[in-house]
Amino acid sequence: AKEQAAHSSQMLFDFDMDAQIHRRQQLQKDLRIALERSKLHLVYQPIVSLQTQQVVSLETLLRWDHETYGAIPPLEIISIAEKYSLANTLGCWIIDEACRQIDEWRNEGFQPLPVAVNISPSMHQLDLAAIINQSLKQHNLPQGLIRIEVTEDTGMQILKETQDLLPGLARHNISVALDDFGTGLSSLSHLQQLPIQTLKIDRSFISKISEDQVSRRLVHNIIGIGHDLGMKVVAEGIENEAEARLLATYQCDYGQGYLFSKPLAPRLIPACCREIAMTANDSAVTETC
Ligand code: C2E
Ligand code: MG
Ligand code: MG
Ligand code: MG
Repeated sequence: AKEQAAHSSQMLFDFDMDAQIHRRQQLQKDLRIALERSKLHLVYQPIVSLQTQQVVSLETLLRWDHETYGAIPPLEIISIAEKYSLANTLGCWIIDEACRQIDEWRNEGFQPLPVAVNISPSMHQLDLAAIINQSLKQHNLPQGLIRIEVTEDTGMQILKETQDLLPGLARHNISVALDDFGTGLSSLSHLQQLPIQTLKIDRSFISKISEDQVSRRLVHNIIGIGHDLGMKVVAEGIENEAEARLLATYQCDYGQGYLFSKPLAPRLIPACCREIAMTANDSAVTETC
């Protein structure tokens, strides 16, 4: 019986593997088509000043709802795109789509906010500044409305490309944030040399600060280091008031997370930004009462 069980679990395993491989192959085929037929879309998440509670910018995040497999995680979309030489096409589409959206909001009377775009490693070889400026120009937008986020890993691994990339962005006033800070390998001396304006502390640290004193100290110190390096600091993944309050007392500049808003469809963004600002006014009133 034991042997039989082992045999059937092996079959189940093979079946799972088969299903996985099949899924992956299907997604690879479908991504190209999805890109051509604009089946991908972007959602936007507010980044909020922890001192004034105003929404200061947005981060855009990629979404793909597949007919068969449902929502595909963005990191999986990116990894498929990287493998199939679609990453540059996809990245350029994201930048241009974000510009188109900012323009649409502006036409609806919504004051344009800078949008941060996540940049996948292979795009570091491109002239990103030129690509961004071209999209901005095409949509009649001023410089500064597109920012980029690179991850620490790419900051270390593709050191050469990233180092070549950053000064050009700085010359064009394109602000760069180092994403998921604390999960990668960046050394402080290296960070000091790079023209990066913002540090984003990874959610894995933020989610522990309410309970764990070591995490609390760590985050407090990371904020200090960011400031010492002349950077603004964003805390990712703030989910409750306690975390927001703590981070504000640590002088963390900005916050992002479900407490303020989940990533939203673009049509919901103007109302959401108004609501966040209003909640801030309410709590200011309560505090003075
Ligand atoms: P990221 O850039 O660090 O994005 C933050 C992720 O945390 C997003 O997940 C967001 O939905 C999630 N998040 C935000 N606030 C909270 C919170 O309070 N609680 C929790 N539990 N999660 C929160 P998402 O959209 O699944 O994206 C995951 C990662 O995929 C991103 O991490 C980014 O590295 C990558 N990614 C997403 N969109 C793009 C894109 O357009 N291009 C590239 N190259 N990468 C992307
Ligand atoms: Mg990001
Ligand atoms: Mg992040
Ligand atoms: Mg992250």
